[in-house]
Amino acid sequence: MADKLQEPELVYDAKATLGEGPVWDHRTGCLYWVDILENQLHRFDPNHPDTSTRVSIKPYVSSIVPRQSGGIALTLQDGFYAFDLESRQLSLLAEVEATITDNRFNDGKCDPAGRFVAGTMSMSDQPARGALYTLDADHAVKRLLSDVHLSNGLAWTEDGKTLYHIDTPTRQVKAYDYNLQSGEIQNGRVVVQFPDDQGFPDGMTIDAEGMLWIAHWGGWQVSRWNPATGSKLGYVAVPASQVTCCTFGGPNLDQLYITTARIGLDEQALEHQPAAGGLFRVSLGIKGLQTSFYRG
Ligand code: CA
Repeated sequence: MADKLQEPELVYDAKATLGEGPVWDHRTGCLYWVDILENQLHRFDPNHPDTSTRVSIKPYVSSIVPRQSGGIALTLQDGFYAFDLESRQLSLLAEVEATITDNRFNDGKCDPAGRFVAGTMSMSDQPARGALYTLDADHAVKRLLSDVHLSNGLAWTEDGKTLYHIDTPTRQVKAYDYNLQSGEIQNGRVVVQFPDDQGFPDGMTIDAEGMLWIAHWGGWQVSRWNPATGSKLGYVAVPASQVTCCTFGGPNLDQLYITTARIGLDEQALEHQPAAGGLFRVSLGIKGLQTSFYRG
């Protein structure tokens, strides 16, 4: 039996339609996250929650990574972009699937060598239309995986030799051997199989002990898994059903931030989960890994 862990607190009652993609920027001590369907980039300052800001970035800002050179890079529907937070200037780094208007980018983050890796999905739930891409420092794009249904959670082991990836409808987490020099992957195998009655695996992060933390879409929780055994070790119960993603942050990287969504919930459902779409946080005495920044 997996242990129930401490309950999270609601730190920002954002009422997001589709809160996603939390990423800790240790340079500024802030958390970035997005509301994909409302085209919003959020910046949360834990020391000054009242100064939290949001910027509209269209279409469908879906993932953010801090850049080593300053500012951030992000995915919009049709490609990778750089964004200057001061001037709010958006510049295209590379187009991806720009002619497939039913697709959009989804979850993305950087590998430990500083490549930006992000996947796509069909917005009308067509199976196997998505893919997983890498943006290298020189802005060249490579495809890592094809025939993906709904590309989601990404995490690398601390040594960068293993990539974990979630294709949500399969209810599986797959591991791949990852070549940090070339950015290529091989030898995919299933390491976690989600049970049918706990929702779908969505976003994911990894802790300093190599354990995976996975958000349950439709499952009211974030759970911790051992990828070596496929067993569930514990879970954080979240007072929102559509739990989308999680990441470690805070000055000691020991606070787990959790994003949630309101989409798909009618008025009656929202009465029972008024904090749905909020940003949550819990301290569990477990540390995460430092966010990798984009090198390009
Ligand atoms: Ca997601």
